[in-house]
Amino acid sequence: MQKCTRCGKKAVIHRKYEGSYLCSSHFIKAIESKAKRTIRQSGMVDRGDKIAFALSGGKDSSAVMYLINKVFANRDDLSFVAFTIDEGIPGYRDESIEIAKKLCSKLGIEHHIFSFKDEFGMTLDEKVKESKKSKKWEGTACTYCGLARRWMMNKKSRELGATKVCVGMNLDDEIQGIMMDYLKGDISRLSRMTGEPLSKNKLFVSRIKPFRDIPEKEVGLYAILVGLDVQEDECPNLEGPRFRVRDFLNEFEANSPGIKFSTANTFKRLAPAIREVAKKEGTKLIKCTKCGEPSSQKVCKTCELWKQ
Ligand code: SF4
Repeated sequence: MQKCTRCGKKAVIHRKYEGSYLCSSHFIKAIESKAKRTIRQSGMVDRGDKIAFALSGGKDSSAVMYLINKVFANRDDLSFVAFTIDEGIPGYRDESIEIAKKLCSKLGIEHHIFSFKDEFGMTLDEKVKESKKSKKWEGTACTYCGLARRWMMNKKSRELGATKVCVGMNLDDEIQGIMMDYLKGDISRLSRMTGEPLSKNKLFVSRIKPFRDIPEKEVGLYAILVGLDVQEDECPNLEGPRFRVRDFLNEFEANSPGIKFSTANTFKRLAPAIREVAKKEGTKLIKCTKCGEPSSQKVCKTCELWKQ
C-alpha cells in the first residue's frame, strides 16, 4: 500500500507528474486550492457576480458547481443559477438531466432546462437525420451540437442575468482545444482560448473555467471522493478528430508525465503574441443578422447550420 507523501495515510492517487502520493483528504484539499488559485490568478470571480453553471450532469460540470458552491459559501455578494441543455440525445441526456436536477436541489441552486427542440425546432438526432438526407451534412454530430450548445450557453446565461458562465472544462479539454485550433490554423479561436476577449462585447457573457489546470482524471476522482452522483456513460455520438487528439495526448502523457501541463503552460506564455496576431488579422465581432448574437460573419455559423 502506497502512503500519502504528506501524512502517511493510505494514498488514493499517485501524481506521477510531481512524484507525490496523496490520501483522500489531502487530494480534496489540493484540488480545491488549485481551483481557487486559478480563479484568483485569472480574476475569474468579481464582487457581485451572478454565476450561471452550464451543468450537464457529467463529472466535470457537477464537480465544478459543487466546488464553487463550497469554497464561496461565505460570499453573500455572489449568486448562483444553473442550466442544462437538452440536445435531444435519447438514452443519454435524460439520465444526466435527472442527476443535474438532484444536485441543484441538494445544493439549493435554481435550475433551468433549455432544449434544442424549443430553440431550433428540432432535436440533435432529428437535425442529423435531416442534414444527412438533404446532403448538407457537415462532418459529425458534434459539429452541429457543439456550435448550438455554445450559442445557447451564451444566450441563456445572458437571459438569466448572469455576469459569468462557469463550465467544467479541465486541463485535458483545454489542451485538446488548443491542439485542434493549432492544427486547423484557427488563430481567432485560439486567441479566445487565452481567456481574454479581443474586444469586449456586452452580448458575450464571460466564460470561466476553474478546472482549466486540473487533469481530467483528477476531476473524476474528486467527484467520486466528495460523493457526487454523476453520469458515467459517454455520449453515443462521440467521434471526430478531437478524440484522436485526446488519445494521442493521453498516450504521450503516459510516456512523458507532465506533458499536458507543459503544453498548457507554453500556450499561456504565447498568449500575448497570439492575441497580437489575431488583432492584426482583424476578426471583428458584429451582430448576426438572423439571431442578433455576436458573430464574425453576417450570418453566424449556428444560424447557417440550424436555422437556414
Ligand atoms: Fe454533443 Fe458531441 Fe458532446 Fe455528444 S459528444 S454532447 S454530440 S458535442
